[in-house]
Amino acid sequence: MDTKQQALFIIFGGTGDLAKRKLYPSLFELYKKGFLRDNFAVIGTARRPWTDEYFQEVVREAVTAEHESEEDVANFAQHFYYQSHNVNDTEHYVTLRKLAQQLDQKYHIGGNRLFYLAMSPRFFGTIAKHLKSQHIVTDNGYNRLIIEKPFGHDLTSAKELNNAIGSYFTEKSVFRIDHYLGKEMIQNIAAVRFGNNLFRSLWNNRYIDNIQITLSEALGVEERAGYYETAGALRDMVQNHILQIVSLLTMNMPASYTESDIRREKLDALKALQVYTPEQVKNNFVRAQYTGTNELKGYRQEEKIADDSRTETFVAGKLFVNNENFAGVPIYIRTGKRLAKKTTRIDIVFKDIPKNIFGSAKLGKNILTIIVEPKGEIYLQMNVKQIGQDFGLQVQKMDLLQVKDNKVQIPEAYEKLILDALRGNATNFTHWEEVAYSWKFVDAIRSTWDQQQDSLAEYASGSMGPKVADDLLVRDGHKWVFTVNGEEN
Ligand code: NAD
Repeated sequence: MDTKQQALFIIFGGTGDLAKRKLYPSLFELYKKGFLRDNFAVIGTARRPWTDEYFQEVVREAVTAEHESEEDVANFAQHFYYQSHNVNDTEHYVTLRKLAQQLDQKYHIGGNRLFYLAMSPRFFGTIAKHLKSQHIVTDNGYNRLIIEKPFGHDLTSAKELNNAIGSYFTEKSVFRIDHYLGKEMIQNIAAVRFGNNLFRSLWNNRYIDNIQITLSEALGVEERAGYYETAGALRDMVQNHILQIVSLLTMNMPASYTESDIRREKLDALKALQVYTPEQVKNNFVRAQYTGTNELKGYRQEEKIADDSRTETFVAGKLFVNNENFAGVPIYIRTGKRLAKKTTRIDIVFKDIPKNIFGSAKLGKNILTIIVEPKGEIYLQMNVKQIGQDFGLQVQKMDLLQVKDNKVQIPEAYEKLILDALRGNATNFTHWEEVAYSWKFVDAIRSTWDQQQDSLAEYASGSMGPKVADDLLVRDGHKWVFTVNGEEN
C-alpha cells in the first residue's frame, strides 16, 4: 500500500473552527502514523494577519494532548505556513503561488496539491477560478479540491455552485466531504451487507419490515445559529448524511468494492427515492422546533435566533426507495437538536415469523442494530429459549461488534477521508449526481413546507421529538426501536 504521501495542502479558512478542531488533529494523526512525514507542507490562509510563528503556535495548541510527544508536535507544526489572504483579491493569489512553489521545492513535493476549502461555500467559485487563472494548480502533480457542506441550499443553487467549480476543476478532482462516510461504523454497512451471505439473502423487502435511522443531538443550536437559521434540520442533516446512509442501506450489491461500482449503485438507489407530491409530504414528513425548560432555552430564545423563527430543529419522515429489493419497505428517519441523547443509529427491523408455534409465548422481533455513535456497536436481537425446566422464550442481544472508544482503533472520520483524498480514492465522497438527486427529494419537502405555515410542531427539550413523529410509525403498526427510555422490542 502507498504509505508515505507527498502533498502541499492549501487550507482556505485556516483560522476557522473546522480547521482547528478537525483538520489539524487529523493531519497530525496521519503524520504520527507515517503517511505524512518529510514531503508535505500546509499553507493556512484566512483574512487575519497572522505570522507563521503564530500559526504554528495555533496548530501546536490544536494537536497537543497529554499523551502526545512534544517533539512530534513541534516537528509537525514546522510544516505549517500562513498567508493572510482575502479570497476576492487577485494579488493575494500571486503571493500564494510563490509561497506554494517555494514549499514545493523545499519539501520535494513534486507538484501534488490539495486545496481544502474550509470556509463558506459562497467563496468556492471565486477560489476555484483564481486557483486556475493564477496558475496555483500545477502541471506536474495532482490538483484536488476538497469541499465542505453545505453544497447549495436547493437543487438550483447546488447546480450553480457545481457549474462555478466545474468550469475549473473536473468532477474527478473534486472531493465533496460528507464526514459520515468516513465513520467506521457507516463503512461497516457494506461489510455487514456484502460480507455475510446470511444478511445478503435477508436484505430485501421479503424479510425486512422497516428501517429506522436516528441522528439525534443532545445539544441545541450552539454557535452555528446564523447558519442554522437559514438551513434547518432538513437541509443540514437529511439532504446529505441521512440520504447517504439510506443509499448505502438500500443499494444493490456492487460488482466490486471500488469507487465506480459503489457510486453507480448508490446513485441508482437515490434515483429510486420516491419524490413526494405536496399531499404525500403532508402525510409522510413532520417538522418541529424545540421549546425551553427551566434550565434550557427554547430555540426561539437562543442567541441570534429570531423570536418568530420558523426554522425546524427536528425532522422525521417515512421514505421509500422503489428499487427491486426495497420497494414497499418504509424507511423511517429522524434527526434533531436538544433530543434526549446524542446518538447515530440504524435499526433494521425484520418481519415477524409467519407462524408462532409457541402458543401464548410472545416472540421478540429480529432487529439488527448498528450504533455509529457514541460508541461503535453492532448487535442482533434474537429469540432464544429461557434456560430451565419449562419451555419459555426470551429475547437476547447478540453482540457482533463492540468498538472501544480508542483513537488508535477508530480513526477520526476526517483522518480517513483526508488520507483517501491523498490517495485519490473518492469512494467515500459524494458525487455531484448524488447531490443532485438528494436535493430533488429534499426540495419537494421544503417547497411544500414553505406553503404550509401550520406544519411546524413543538417538542420539549430532552424528549425524542414531537408525538407526530411517533404517530408516523404507529399508524403503520410500528414503533421506534429507540425511545427516550432506551430500547423497546
Ligand atoms: P469559521 O467561520 O470558523 O471559519 C471560516 C474561515 O474562513 C475563517 O478562517 C475566516 O477567516 C475565513 N474567511 C472568511 N471570509 C474570508 C475571506 N473573504 N477571505 C479569506 N478568508 C475568509 O467556519 P467553520 O466552522 O470552520 O466552517 C468552514 C466550512 O466548513 C463551512 O462551509 C461550514 O459549513 C463547513 N463545516 C464546518 C463544520 C464544523 O464543524 N465547523 C462541520 C461541517 C461543515
